[in-house]
Amino acid sequence: TTFDPNTIQPAALMYHCRQPTIQDRNVSHIFPRHTKSNLPVVARGEGVYLYDQSGKAYFDGSGGAAVSCLGHGDTDVTEAIKTQLDSIAFAHTSFFTSDPAEQLADKLITHAPKGIDRVYLVSGGSEAMEAALKLARQYFVEIDQPQRRHIIARKQSYHGNTLGALATGGNEWRRAPFAPMLVETTHISPCFEYRGKRAEETTLDYGLRIANELETEIQRLGEDSVIAFVAEPVVGATAGAVPAVQGYLKRIREICDQYGVLLILDEVMCGMGRTGTLFASEQDDVVPDIVAIAKGLGAGYQPIGAMLCSAAIYKAIENGSGFFQHGHTYIGHPVASAAALAVLTKLTDGGLVERCAMMGDKLNDALQHAFGQHPNIGDIRGRGLFRALEFVEDRSTKTPFAPDRAVHKSLKKECFEAGLICYPMGGTIDGRSGDHILLAPPFIMEDAHIDEIVSKLQIAINRVL
Ligand code: PMP
Repeated sequence: TTFDPNTIQPAALMYHCRQPTIQDRNVSHIFPRHTKSNLPVVARGEGVYLYDQSGKAYFDGSGGAAVSCLGHGDTDVTEAIKTQLDSIAFAHTSFFTSDPAEQLADKLITHAPKGIDRVYLVSGGSEAMEAALKLARQYFVEIDQPQRRHIIARKQSYHGNTLGALATGGNEWRRAPFAPMLVETTHISPCFEYRGKRAEETTLDYGLRIANELETEIQRLGEDSVIAFVAEPVVGATAGAVPAVQGYLKRIREICDQYGVLLILDEVMCGMGRTGTLFASEQDDVVPDIVAIAKGLGAGYQPIGAMLCSAAIYKAIENGSGFFQHGHTYIGHPVASAAALAVLTKLTDGGLVERCAMMGDKLNDALQHAFGQHPNIGDIRGRGLFRALEFVEDRSTKTPFAPDRAVHKSLKKECFEAGLICYPMGGTIDGRSGDHILLAPPFIMEDAHIDEIVSKLQIAINRVL
């Protein structure tokens, strides 16, 4: 069936008038994201669609926040959860290991970049990053280099909202209220070709120039004082599906090796097949020392994340204190592990990662075709089913819209009204406002859904700009 955009507008307006919202309840005790929000109540999900209580369908064009890689209502995953619940729901990891956790770790390592050998299962992305940062520090304590204390990360990055992860992230707006509570972290430039490459530079030279900022920063802080460099291989929530240019991460790896600095890659958003390979860094031909994953690992069916590390790091702990000084109550949770094992099996053995790569190319072609010449769309970028559009006032000068126009927020609202969920973002570079929307649809989407995304986006864009 081909999607007919002409039917959307009246229907969207009609639903706008009658969809039940949280305001319909007399009292809510939920602490919402925004206190003035007026959200519809979700009723169910099926495939690529979510439905509110009025029956209105929303195409899950961003998989929430790049979470729902399998879409909704996947019975292989729900059955795995039920089966696990029927045997054992929870056993604390200081007393037991469990089959689903062991199998999940085995399968992750089978598919992880060569050299990655151990898996630490947690409950989400921020926890995975906290574990990564603490393991990196403890590693140097174990190998008798306790003077190493600095983390270097990048501007325009997001690594989570707990204090350690927040300190690592380079998003000024998120950090600002908590600045006095954050450990000192320095931030070098992101690798963001659209915004950062000079006209006279080749892409390769740009990547090398930006990567070399890491060496300068290591030298400034003291050659033997840096613990780790942290980066998202494809930046998600702060810049909108920005892949590093070819050669950048390879140069970063070289610099890390030269100065004995660990490379921590945050694949919480871009990992688990989202960019067309199970780990995004495979496409950069780089192996990290530590990698964090979450979101697509549980595909939204259970809250789960993981920190994976190299054999060398694990050995240092094993040969040293023998104990990673970390832990949470729910690490290695059997039900969450069983869900993730079912998800990972579908991604790898079920061919869904390849499908993501294939559908990603098609989505990109369709976006380029529909919006490539749009006067207010400056960049269409990404990898796999992880794509973003950057909106600008002036395409030739790349001038962003004035922040008070909040273009990204209006686009989110109009898309939602038209029945398309997309993930909006503001903030381009060095605090200057910009507007993007991120698309991260489920890997199970069909060709007709690409028409649906493009048509609904078209409606929203025409209304806002
Ligand atoms: N790292 C990245 C790259 C993320 O995108 C996110 C979530 N948006 C996190 C870490 C934090 O994950 P969580 O929200 O599951 O704690």
